[in-house]
Amino acid sequence: MAWKLSPRIEEILKKGRDGVPLERDEALALVHLELESRETYALMEAANHLSRAQFGKKGERHFHIGLNVEPCPMDCLFCSLTRKAGLFTEKYEYSMEEIVAWAKQGEAQGADGLNLMATGTYPFSRLLEVGRRLNKEVSVPLVANARDINHKEGEQLLDAGYVGFYHAVRLGEGKDTPFKPERRIETLRVLHDVGLKWVNCVEPVGPEHSPEEIVDLMLLARREKATYSGIMRRINFPGSPKEPEGMISERRMAQLVAVSRLVMGTTVKAHCVHEPNSLALVAGANLFFPEVGSSPRDAEAETGEGRGRTIEYCSDLLREMEWDPNLASNVY
Ligand code: SF4
Repeated sequence: MAWKLSPRIEEILKKGRDGVPLERDEALALVHLELESRETYALMEAANHLSRAQFGKKGERHFHIGLNVEPCPMDCLFCSLTRKAGLFTEKYEYSMEEIVAWAKQGEAQGADGLNLMATGTYPFSRLLEVGRRLNKEVSVPLVANARDINHKEGEQLLDAGYVGFYHAVRLGEGKDTPFKPERRIETLRVLHDVGLKWVNCVEPVGPEHSPEEIVDLMLLARREKATYSGIMRRINFPGSPKEPEGMISERRMAQLVAVSRLVMGTTVKAHCVHEPNSLALVAGANLFFPEVGSSPRDAEAETGEGRGRTIEYCSDLLREMEWDPNLASNVY
């Protein structure tokens, strides 16, 4: 193995390390690097340096609360909450009392945001009701994660106390899902127009996705001004139609976290990874999602009893990698 980095990669990393956002061909070159190469470690170092220089020591924990379980008729292939997956046969909504209790627990444990996720047919009026109630009960910023919205609905979310909206044009959108990518992008424009912060992940990444597809979604996040972005890998639930494709490793995910970090440059307030793991925290990520309630990655109805990680667990991982969860959030 050569001791020196390839001159082209060195040049790209110098630019990225200094916070100059990367171009498409530069990001593609980094996504193609061998995991075992010195260049990949140098890439992670560059992304780590940029995040620590820009975000200070802050480690973020944004608490995902899944509001309901249903056999969702949208049948996105990667999601465990679908009719087709057959894991859940009944609709179930967590009660307002359960949601309030989780939100208060999140606040007591220092969550930096509450990300309230609803499935495809969750009543919008109920999402508004949850926002209004939580806004009275806790002072943690509220983020909705729901279907595509129009301007009127965006304004209603703001009135109900939400400050942000998690949304993604997913990998395989329109092929693995029934949604048109153009409509997903329209929602991003709605968020900007009404003043809801857009938060994003490039997701759900699997081994079958091409470098071009992945990089184009990183670039979309920068172009449409995501408040934070990052990488989430696809988790194959038992019986998932994606099982034959396998899953990417945390190691590959860390490489993509680092590329995504350099693509975003200094435009973002944090950089996320899901699910929580240590390696990504030395590759440019500083934001985790602890989880309770429903999750599209879990075969358990309450992911707190399944794959979901607690706020304490996430805080411990952050501290071990020398990020401080107790500092004030940079995001909202
Ligand atoms: S990702 Fe959302 S819309 Fe798609 S099947 Fe799952 S819950 Fe339904």
